[in-house]
Amino acid sequence: MAESSRKQKILIIGAHPDDADIKAGGTATLWAAQGHQVRLVSLTDGRAGHQTDHGPALAERRKREAEAAAASIGATYEIFDIPDGELDDRVEYRHRVVRLIRSFQPDLIVTHRTTDYHPDHRFAGLLVQDAAYLLTVPAVCPEVPHLPQSPVILYFSDAFRKPCPFAPDVAVNVEDQLDRVVGMLHCHASQFYEWLPFNAGHLNQVPETDSERLAWLGQRFRERIKPLADRHRDLLFQIYGPRAGASIQYVEAFEASEYGAPLNSESASRLFPFLPESWHASLSSGQKSWVDVPEPTGPKFTLEPPPSTAVATRKTRTKATPIAPTPKEPRARSTANGASSDLTPPWMGESEFE
Ligand SMILES: [Zn+2]
Repeated sequence: MAESSRKQKILIIGAHPDDADIKAGGTATLWAAQGHQVRLVSLTDGRAGHQTDHGPALAERRKREAEAAAASIGATYEIFDIPDGELDDRVEYRHRVVRLIRSFQPDLIVTHRTTDYHPDHRFAGLLVQDAAYLLTVPAVCPEVPHLPQSPVILYFSDAFRKPCPFAPDVAVNVEDQLDRVVGMLHCHASQFYEWLPFNAGHLNQVPETDSERLAWLGQRFRERIKPLADRHRDLLFQIYGPRAGASIQYVEAFEASEYGAPLNSESASRLFPFLPESWHASLSSGQKSWVDVPEPTGPKFTLEPPPSTAVATRKTRTKATPIAPTPKEPRARSTANGASSDLTPPWMGESEFE
């Protein structure tokens, strides 16, 4: 079988039992539909996600919900027993993540960035980053064979801007998968019809019947992810071309991590076979930059010169290396009523679904 047609193993690691569904459910649906093996993971047990029910009973309920959601698209869900709200970067948890990844041997990992409002999300991203290189070190967790190299690692989208905004390398049109994603979220009744509406202050808006709930949730979810396509329209042009790229309304977007294998023309064609070949071919065939270029490329550290030359050197340095401009923040886009949707605090609207 050609390398590009080999079935891929996709490991989507969230902090809570619905994060993977919310952030990558549409792309997960595409992978599973093409026969790739998709495993969703929650590093915590979700026991804190409810206004009245807590502890092991809620964790058990959420496990059943998550398994049903994964099964609905032909994937599986694995849930760690770490208490919700208590994830951190201890070595024990890092080793659990190392063993998880080595056992599954994924071609791709998708997880949170470490910039996020929720500590569990931040630590989930950090644990994957901390594990990335150690996957290849035989002396770490020797009970599970090491991997010859780290897989590609991608980050979920988010709207946080500091210290650096989300900068996607991939965006997938998921419009045709949205009903499946909403079907997954519908399985998490404790979250989307109980806890999250309570937390957001509109529990009284939740409909009673299943069909009404699906329609209500579907509308809310579409509104929630719609800004992503406009925010990353330039990338959609690159991937889908100017005509198709202009009409795409709903996307999931991912940023490549420097700590994983490179997202290059070879890996992109394996991992994103449903994206245009022209985009695969446009990517470099290069390997990891920090392996190829061991010397740091930033300004070199030098000892402070003697006082007699300090002024002249400073002048020279100022002229030669002007301060880099601050990276532009995502451009605010005007809505129909003139309001700027990107001026909304980045966690609002999105956190409601996490
Ligand atoms: Zn979460």
